[in-house]
Amino acid sequence: AKQIPGSAFALFDPQLDRRASSMLQAEQLLDKAVRAREFQLVYQPKFHCGSRQLSGFEALVRWQRPDGQRISPADFIPAAERTGQILALGELIIDIALQQIRQWHQQGQVLPVAINVSPVQFTHPRFADRLLERLAQSGLPRGLLEIEITESAAMTELDEVLRQLEQLGAAGVPCAMDDFGTGQSSLTMLRKLPIRTLKLDRSMVEPLPRPEAAAIVEATCALGRSLNLEIVAEGVETEEQAAALERLGATHLQGYLLGRPLEPAAATALLQHRGED
Ligand code: C2E
Ligand code: CA
Ligand code: CA
Ligand code: CA
Repeated sequence: AKQIPGSAFALFDPQLDRRASSMLQAEQLLDKAVRAREFQLVYQPKFHCGSRQLSGFEALVRWQRPDGQRISPADFIPAAERTGQILALGELIIDIALQQIRQWHQQGQVLPVAINVSPVQFTHPRFADRLLERLAQSGLPRGLLEIEITESAAMTELDEVLRQLEQLGAAGVPCAMDDFGTGQSSLTMLRKLPIRTLKLDRSMVEPLPRPEAAAIVEATCALGRSLNLEIVAEGVETEEQAAALERLGATHLQGYLLGRPLEPAAATALLQHRGED
């Protein structure tokens, strides 16, 4: 995952007009890339606590330039959110994910795949309608597609987000709140949004098993349990962290310790070999 040094996405030029022109360039580049479908999804596995059995995948977008360079989502998602290009890109991501889920389903695999959805996508009043239309066209049964959403400053039209999340949930597309425990995901949102899962941010997982960190994670898991939520711990990198999370009440684990994001072929192989050995 190499990043382009000084690329059009390094928008930190001190000279304002140069910055403006590089922003325009970045926007045009991204437009072209969406039209040329230069994006792929990689799939990071999630596992049940305790059994450590595969429980699902999270789809993460990658921008593969024609010259082979790969641009990380952290370098273009925020820009795409600012320009509104996340709407077109988000539709492309949904298409790619549904195609992959269909392929797995045709192979007899039944495992949920979560896609990341930007709050900006919910500013489009027909976001949920369109997603459900596509899902219906795909002929997939309920429960195979999930979404993950991060609260953000962009979540200004909360009523609109709420309405659409409820629509999706009622149609069998559950939602996870991403990055819980950062400033971006709050208890207020937890109370207001219809979610099924909390994803504990890596910053909560990283200091485990230190006692202060463990106390916070334990209390969060207890809160989640009392609200009937699943708790996915993300960014699990060490066995000590995994063991602490299992003891403290998380329900699922995700992170480099158990599985990195995988190319589609590698994710397919993991699916086919689960349960063996
Ligand atoms: P996220 O949704 O919180 O995803 C987790 C990020 O942490 C991913 O980075 C993943 O590769 C990385 N990660 C997973 N396990 C570990 C670990 O054990 N240690 C460490 N250090 N990192 C780990 P990635 O793929 O670069 O994605 C970054 C962010 O970009 C995502 O954070 C998400 O907010 C956004 N993003 C990714 N794909 C999409 C997408 O399709 N749509 C939208 N709207 N946003 C996306
Ligand atoms: Ca996520
Ligand atoms: Ca996250
Ligand atoms: Ca994140």
